Amino acid sequence: MQHAVKPPVDPATLAYRNLREGEFWRAIPAYAGVDEATFLDHIWQGRQSIKTPEELLETIVDLVPPSFFDDAREGFRRAPMAVRVSPYLIASIDWNRPYEDPIRRQFIPVASQLLSDHPRLTFDSLHEQDDSPVPGLIHRYIDKALFLPLNTCPVYCRFCTRSYAIGPDTEEVDHKARLAKTPKEWQDAFAYIAARPELEDIVISGGDTYQLAPKMLALIGDALLAIPHVRRLRFATKGPAVMPMKILTDHAWTDALTTIVERGRKCGKEVVLHTHFNSPNEISWITQKAMRVLFERGIYVRNQTVLIRGVNDDAATMTTLVKRLEYVNVHPYYVYMHDLVKGVEELRTSIQTAVDLEKHVRGATAGFNTPLFICDAPGGGGKRDVHSFEYYDRENGIAVYTAPSVKPGKFFLYFDPIDTLSLAAQVRWQSPALQDQMVADAIARSGGPIGALA
Ligand SMILES: *Cc1c(COP(=O)(O)O)cnc(C)c1O
Ligand code: SF4
Repeated sequence: MQHAVKPPVDPATLAYRNLREGEFWRAIPAYAGVDEATFLDHIWQGRQSIKTPEELLETIVDLVPPSFFDDAREGFRRAPMAVRVSPYLIASIDWNRPYEDPIRRQFIPVASQLLSDHPRLTFDSLHEQDDSPVPGLIHRYIDKALFLPLNTCPVYCRFCTRSYAIGPDTEEVDHKARLAKTPKEWQDAFAYIAARPELEDIVISGGDTYQLAPKMLALIGDALLAIPHVRRLRFATKGPAVMPMKILTDHAWTDALTTIVERGRKCGKEVVLHTHFNSPNEISWITQKAMRVLFERGIYVRNQTVLIRGVNDDAATMTTLVKRLEYVNVHPYYVYMHDLVKGVEELRTSIQTAVDLEKHVRGATAGFNTPLFICDAPGGGGKRDVHSFEYYDRENGIAVYTAPSVKPGKFFLYFDPIDTLSLAAQVRWQSPALQDQMVADAIARSGGPIGALA
């Protein structure tokens, strides 16, 4: 009998297991004398976070040429989102290649890389405000709702979908939308959830639940678990990706989360953590140790990635990210198309990029660890499988989606970044009349009546 012999694997394909080791932060001038106990202290991480170009200069000093600081200073000035970067992230950036580095691209704006926004971009592109019955609650899907109890995060992502509400006002954006931010204001959201028997699934997001004091975490968990029809809670936090040491050193926070998970389990309800890793470079030995603590406590962690140009938009990087996440006990759940957000056009990719990447990732590992590639349809259509477009005009970069169970009869459009289109298409997008024509054609080809746009 013939046996199929599988050749030995190329060791490079196992490189996702090589996590950053040791005291890697000491390569940063300001952290050269920082010992492990200090670097792992979440309070130190919070205090040392960088919010201005001057603080960046004081921290990395001569690791980059002065021209980079000028570029960053102008980038900070023009950013719609406040800047806040943890020492953990600063130490994870390859400062030999600051322009290409995937972590720098996500958190530190540089003016020279900015592109014009897409003409069809609107503030709050997901129209979350339209689905908000009380401040701090978004009820778009039938059985699930998003509760936003605060508007701060341990770091600020340049591409944040909720830049309309999250973080302090900036020069570019003042008057951010109001969320409910105190336990008194939260009562309205709890009362609404209690009054809607169809709500089984509550996402507690923000902002970021890392920022909630342990007592507040417990208060929210208890209030929601006490509602009989609520079956599932998810606490959403970017924390593990940007400040994993908090899980190891903020014992009160980690214990409060553990208590809610255990209380939920005793009453037959699922309580999990949702997090947000985008680059394999965000995962170090510290992340592995922190995720191990959660794993040992039986806390399930799912990950939602944003597909970002120059960060994770090639097959090798995305596959490494997925494999490295599962290696540290985190389950890849979604990869999102980058939303149409102000001031970050250079970070978006096309729908075609997502379709191509999915093909490479599927088959690379277990099906349950293979993320779904999603487009959260601008205009409030909700999450759609990227492949499920009714029509995709690749030439002009317009994908049309419908969402029968969320907004029946409506059509939703995603626009590819214009700089990735052909020159002829780029010229067409300069004409407002042709823009309307291209959009109308795409809807007509999807079988939609004119004016069916949400
Ligand atoms: C993403 C989201 C949810 C949760 O959706 P899942 O697909 O179940 O992860 C709930 N409400 C809103 C408004 C959302 O955007
Ligand atoms: S952590 Fe989430 S909510 Fe906070 S800035 Fe980043 S994407 Fe926005």
